Amino acid sequence: MTTATKTDFEPVIGLEVHVQLKTRSKMLCGCAVQFGSPANSLTCPVCLGLPGALPMVNRLAVEYGIRVGLALNCQIAHRVKFDRKNYFYPDLPKGYQISQYDEPLCFDGELQLPLMDQAGNPKICRITRAHLEEDAGKSIHMETGTLVDLNRAGTPLIEIVGGPDLRSPEEAYVYLTTLKRNLSYLGVSDLSMEKGSLRCDANVSIRPRGQENFDVRSEIKNLNSFRFMQQAIDYEVRWQIEQIEDGHAIQQATVLFDPDTGETRAMRTKEDAADYRYFPDPDLPPLVISRDWVAEVEAAMPELPRAMADRFVQQYGLPEYDATTLTQSPAMAAYFEAAARDSGQAKMASNWVMGEVSRRLNSEERDIAEVPVDAPQLAALLKRIADGTVSNNAAKQVMDALWKGEGSDVDAVIDAKGLKQVSDSGAIEKIIDEVMAANADMVAQFRAGKDKAFNALVGQVMKASKGKANPQQVNDLLRAKLG
Ligand code: ADP
Ligand code: MG
Ligand code: ZN
Repeated sequence: MTTATKTDFEPVIGLEVHVQLKTRSKMLCGCAVQFGSPANSLTCPVCLGLPGALPMVNRLAVEYGIRVGLALNCQIAHRVKFDRKNYFYPDLPKGYQISQYDEPLCFDGELQLPLMDQAGNPKICRITRAHLEEDAGKSIHMETGTLVDLNRAGTPLIEIVGGPDLRSPEEAYVYLTTLKRNLSYLGVSDLSMEKGSLRCDANVSIRPRGQENFDVRSEIKNLNSFRFMQQAIDYEVRWQIEQIEDGHAIQQATVLFDPDTGETRAMRTKEDAADYRYFPDPDLPPLVISRDWVAEVEAAMPELPRAMADRFVQQYGLPEYDATTLTQSPAMAAYFEAAARDSGQAKMASNWVMGEVSRRLNSEERDIAEVPVDAPQLAALLKRIADGTVSNNAAKQVMDALWKGEGSDVDAVIDAKGLKQVSDSGAIEKIIDEVMAANADMVAQFRAGKDKAFNALVGQVMKASKGKANPQQVNDLLRAKLG
């Protein structure tokens, strides 16, 4: 009798990420780029697609695109050429989208992921290309019909196409968070999945482990959160495995994820490039991208998170873990660095930002941009811990007060709340004497060799001082008195 061994399948995943560029005006006309304005108020003949209107390229959109390309270690093309991608959709009145077909602005890049392979090398996901295109408008479906808002039409987008290098839903999640983290340092986009300024499609296929070739994929659209993306890929992989095991073939298809059911379902079979009848836009002659311009953009590039984390380790002696955590967002990193610089207490600043500050922000669902205690205030507080004015516990109470706006000056809050640590040895000795007299049994136990009694006595002294005695001094003085 033979037992059928089930094939071990491996997922293959590649992500296409659309990022809205936050230029002031649209990509091909002067209309403002703005979220939440009255419907169709931000339009003109160009972005309405009226006959005869002539588009003109927004230089800043191209510059932002170059910035993204450089951040992703891409080659930058020597010219920008735009193509028409033809398809019909109610929110695309021109009947085509202006995009880049065979000559993307950026190509052959890579993104290093914070994942290690078995040999201890970081995982790399290739960036096949990143090209500029215009966004479409929005269809708003109502009970009575569908309305079209063209405010978004013509907003510059960069589409970042990742290589088919990801091998699990978790890897896809890490790729997207790492990509977002890198882009957040560039200041070119809000990167809000909620507002649609960061959108992701996931291409998913499976293949028997060990097989070189890729098999047919499906493309999951409309993934509007990181968690949904991971769920959708997970579901799609399991569904494809089931199909194959049941003897069906996978059809190349576009599928939608339904967050309510956690399932994906086919929407249509996928178009091929040929269906779009791409051709160069006759209204937009190619733009030359001089190497001087690229060099200029490169020289003005902000420090990226990986480099910043390395610097934090070098410059402030932080553990790798701290450095990586603090560079999750540029605002968090800047906040830490200002507090560390002003206080001269880098490790303490790191502990407080990752601990007390982050905990409070998380529980209030606030972003670091809205932190109520600014970096100079945090630095002032850290200095008072370092110089022994307040204990760590008292400092948390000061933080509470600052956070709630009960005061803004650290020293004033310490005074008002009577949180100053007692470091006067005379005063501490007096308390120790009282505690020793009142706890003669503990003293005797300690002298009989019971070390634990020492901690109990320290506890009593701290309690008697209402937590204000300097713990180190209490330790030293008590030990001296006990002989
Ligand atoms: P298209 O232009 O039709 O969307 P591309 O070849 O440009 O197709 O690939 C788009 C995305 O699909 C890329 O992110 C790529 O990594 C991914 N991809 C390509 N082939 C596969 C496959 N067999 N399985 C999973 N993902 C794939
Ligand atoms: Mg695609
Ligand atoms: Zn316009």
